[in-house]
Amino acid sequence: MIKHNIDNRFFHGCGDCRDCCNGKLFSMGEVTQNDFNSIVKLFPTAINIKTKKMMFFYSLVPLVGCHYLRDNKCSVYDTITRPNTCLNYPFGFDKNAVVQQDTVNCQNLNQEESDYPTLIDGYINPQVMNDFFTESQYISTVNKDHLLDDFITLLFQSDSLLNIPKFKTTDGQLIDINEIETNQDMKIINIDKIKSILERQKNNSYNHFIEGHLISIENFPQFGKRLLEQI
Ligand code: SF4
Ligand code: SF4
Repeated sequence: MIKHNIDNRFFHGCGDCRDCCNGKLFSMGEVTQNDFNSIVKLFPTAINIKTKKMMFFYSLVPLVGCHYLRDNKCSVYDTITRPNTCLNYPFGFDKNAVVQQDTVNCQNLNQEESDYPTLIDGYINPQVMNDFFTESQYISTVNKDHLLDDFITLLFQSDSLLNIPKFKTTDGQLIDINEIETNQDMKIINIDKIKSILERQKNNSYNHFIEGHLISIENFPQFGKRLLEQI
């Protein structure tokens, strides 16, 4: 049975709302182990030193909207690499694979009746599962192991984090995203340091995360260009 923590609401579709994408609600999301491979291809990632979570940037500053929102549409909507959090919202899994719903922020998930109730006889409406989640997402969340969490713990234990360096946008302009208050807790991984520690330990378990993070930070220059165009 699918575990959930939702009360009876009705979804009305997104219509003209783009609040998930236009910066009103989010500028960052949490990287989960299941979603890691998809996210690193599209978004820069960094570690938040206060929450000790790996996060990805929808945009490098709050309120400007996701890098991939173009002409009020998601330009990666049909790709398989769109993050699960985009696919699932206004629903989502917590770490224990319990389905949650965001009734605070999603204006079209409310108590006004529609033909899309979130619950039927107290059970989660299977349509929610079909329309917002894939079965494999759910199963992999249930069976989640903790390798990414363990890797993040190791990064802190070994002091293997660095300030996000200034970087050049794809237009060649120098940009320092640390000047933005919300980015001041964000650090990238000190690749050389963590690699040498893992080599000494003969431990290959985390190479995948290191390579993925490297791929993800290659997105900074194009995100920087887009940011300067937007602000
Ligand atoms: S906030 Fe809700 S209604 Fe608005 S775009 Fe997101 S899911 Fe759709
Ligand atoms: S990737 Fe697409 S769906 Fe996700 S926040 Fe960006 S524009 Fe919205």
